[in-house]
Amino acid sequence: MSWVTALARPDIVALQVYEHAAWRPQLERLHANELPWSPTGGDPRSGINRYPEPQPRALIERLAALYGVAADSVLVGRGSDEAIDLLCRAFCRAGEDAVLVCPPTFGMYSVSARIQGAQVHTAPLAMERGFALDEAQLLARCTRTTKLVFLCSPNNPTGNLLDEQAMLRIARELAGRALVVVDEAYVEFADRPSLARRLGELPNLAVLRTLSKAYGLAGARCGALLADPQVIGLLRKIIPPYAIAKPTLDAVLSRLTPAALAAGRAQLDTLLAERTRLLQALAQLPRIVRLWPSDSNFILAEFDDAGAALERADQAGLLVRDARGYPGLGRALRITVGTAQQNSRLLEAWS
Ligand SMILES: *Cc1c(COP(=O)(O)O)cnc(C)c1O
Repeated sequence: MSWVTALARPDIVALQVYEHAAWRPQLERLHANELPWSPTGGDPRSGINRYPEPQPRALIERLAALYGVAADSVLVGRGSDEAIDLLCRAFCRAGEDAVLVCPPTFGMYSVSARIQGAQVHTAPLAMERGFALDEAQLLARCTRTTKLVFLCSPNNPTGNLLDEQAMLRIARELAGRALVVVDEAYVEFADRPSLARRLGELPNLAVLRTLSKAYGLAGARCGALLADPQVIGLLRKIIPPYAIAKPTLDAVLSRLTPAALAAGRAQLDTLLAERTRLLQALAQLPRIVRLWPSDSNFILAEFDDAGAALERADQAGLLVRDARGYPGLGRALRITVGTAQQNSRLLEAWS
C-alpha cells in the first residue's frame, strides 16, 4: 500500500468514480444531452452550450509550466478554496481525523475541515517573533489522526512569509504521517520563490496556488494544488466532473499568454511600490499603534481604536477588513493595497 493510500480515507480510495461523458473533441457530440446550438445571441464559437473538458489539458499544461512542475502534479479547481475542501474530504474521516492550523490564519482550512466533520487542532504562530512558526509546538500537537497540516506563507492576515527551512523540516518530520499543505496564495508579492520546486524530494509536501490574487482573476475562480501525482490522482476522483467553466478557461488562458504575463509583471511592480508608500505613510499616523511588515498585497495594522478607524474608512467610501476576531489581534485591521488614489483616500481618512 502506498503512503497516500494509507493516509487517505479508505472509502475514498475504494470509491468508484463518476464516469463523465467522454472527451473526444474530434467527434461530434451526441452523447452528453447538450443543445446542439449556442444560446440565442451568444457567440457561436464560445462553446458555452457544451460541457467543458474535465481537468482541461491546455490549462493544466499552462499552469504546470507557470509553476515549474509536471502536469500530473497539478489539480485545477474553482479557486484554491476548492482544493482545500477536497483535501479535507479525501484525507479526513469524519469524527476521527484532524487537521492542524496555525492561527491567526486563513479561515477556510478550519471551515472546510469542520464541514467534513474533522477536528481542528492548533499550533499558534509566535506573535512576539513576528508571527513565526512554532515548530516544536506544531510537531508536538500532531497526533496519529492528524492528516493535514496547513501552513500559509505569506500568511493571511499577518502578511509575513514563514521560515522555509522550518516548513521543510516539518514536512520531513511528518513524512508518511501527514500531508503538509503550504498555501502560497500571496507568494507572487513576496521576494522568495515558491516551495513547489521542492515537491520532488518531499512527497508529503503540497503547495496551493491561485490566480485570484497577483494574477487579478478572483472573479474567474481558478486555483491549483501542486502535489505528488498520487495525491492529485486521489483528488481527481472526487472533484466535480466539470469543475472549470468554459468562460473561466478562456479568461485564464488569455491571462497566461507571454504578453499578458509581461503586462501583469508591470502591474505587480506598481502594486509593490504602492505597498511601500502605504506602509511608510501608515507608520506616520498616530492612531496606528503597531504596523506589521508585509510580504503580501495587504497590511496588518493595530489601532488605538480600530472601530473608529473602520468607521472613518466607511465614511470615505472604503472598506477594509476587520481583523479583530482573530486570536491576539483585538485591535487590528487588514488593509488591501489598492490604487494610488484609493490608498491616498484611505490615508486621508485616517490622518
Ligand atoms: C484568497 C486566499 C485563498 C483563496 O483563493 P481562491 O483561489 O480564490 O479560492 C487561499 N488562501 C489564502 C490564504 C487566501 O488569502
